[in-house]
Amino acid sequence: MLRIDKLLANMGFGSRKEVKQLLKSGAVKVDEAVVKDSKTKVDPNVQKVTVHGEEVVYQETIYLMMNKPPGVISATEDHVQQTVIDLLEEKDRILSPFPVGRLDKDTEGLLILTNDGQLSHSLLSPKKHVPKTYFAKIDGCVTEEDVDAFKQGVTLEDGYHTKPGDLVILQSGEHSEIRLTITEGKFHQVKRMFEAVGKKVTYLKRIRMGGLDLDKELKLGEYRELTEDELNKLQ
Ligand code: URA
Repeated sequence: MLRIDKLLANMGFGSRKEVKQLLKSGAVKVDEAVVKDSKTKVDPNVQKVTVHGEEVVYQETIYLMMNKPPGVISATEDHVQQTVIDLLEEKDRILSPFPVGRLDKDTEGLLILTNDGQLSHSLLSPKKHVPKTYFAKIDGCVTEEDVDAFKQGVTLEDGYHTKPGDLVILQSGEHSEIRLTITEGKFHQVKRMFEAVGKKVTYLKRIRMGGLDLDKELKLGEYRELTEDELNKLQ
């Protein structure tokens, strides 16, 4: 049994607040009876829920935020290497979550795991330009020229000219530390952007995706469910 407002929000009918309005309007029926109280509990496997007469086919969703550790791959299955799915408790694998996009094996940080194909698609779609922010350590001195170059986009070794990246120097010297926000997700993009300006990434961590920040309380390899607010930030 779950609350009707949660069910409808999970199924993409808007935020809890919007769903409350929808219920109030009388558009929602459970087994042919109008339901207006958002606290009403329903069993979507047994009861028929409709919105404006259209049946809502319920698929239970799961949304997790993981602080990916280095050394595991962003895949669902591998015969040799450990995957991010192997890090999940049995109970969290039941709904078959998969990683939204990939982080390299040696990259750490924010990884979303879900079974919501629509959300995954919209976060990864090149048309949506979802910003992703990385913290990185760089071998070499990152300069204001690099900041300007990234602002124009840089040409990778295969000739691809990237979209602008917002590069912030946190520390510069023989070894530098930076924050970079990009809106694309090409293979090894951050590493290749630095290669394009003659520098090497020695440590990489994703700290933000869309409006969602990595929870600093999560240690490497730990994960938790997204809150409703966090989920709304991604949609
Ligand atoms: N850019 C990279 O080079 N690697 C990642 O894992 C993510 C972005």
